[in-house]
Amino acid sequence: MPVSATGPYDQGNIFAKILRGEIPCNKVFEDDFALAFHDIAPQAPVHVLVIPKGPYVSWADFSATATDAEIGGFVRAVGQVARDLGLEEPGYRLLANTGVHGNQVVPHLHVHIFGGRQFGAMLS
Ligand code: 5GP
Repeated sequence: MPVSATGPYDQGNIFAKILRGEIPCNKVFEDDFALAFHDIAPQAPVHVLVIPKGPYVSWADFSATATDAEIGGFVRAVGQVARDLGLEEPGYRLLANTGVHGNQVVPHLHVHIFGGRQFGAMLS
């Protein structure tokens, strides 16, 4: 069920529980700003999610209200994870589903990193 990109932050969402350590994840990266872990239902040979540590619902929320340090730290983390996974060559795809039309399901900002094969058309 898609969620609003601009609603109040729900501390009970699944990624908030992962951040608090209440639910396990297959972690690939963590620093002060971000946590990255493998998607539970991968849709590519490599499918990793990168989430900010702060309570941001979506790209809309994060881009408007996060601090410059949080935004910089998060963007650098996404690039670092892709680099660490060996994806810079031959490349990878980033996706941030946002709100109902974006079909965002989990109401905590996450960037999908897809890699490991050649992707086709951008949208089906
Ligand atoms: P969205 O559609 O919101 O952009 O994507 C949410 C993603 O979170 C989906 O790809 C889904 O497989 C993943 N996901 C949902 N619950 C969990 C979970 O408990 N653990 C992990 N690792 N991924 C999850």
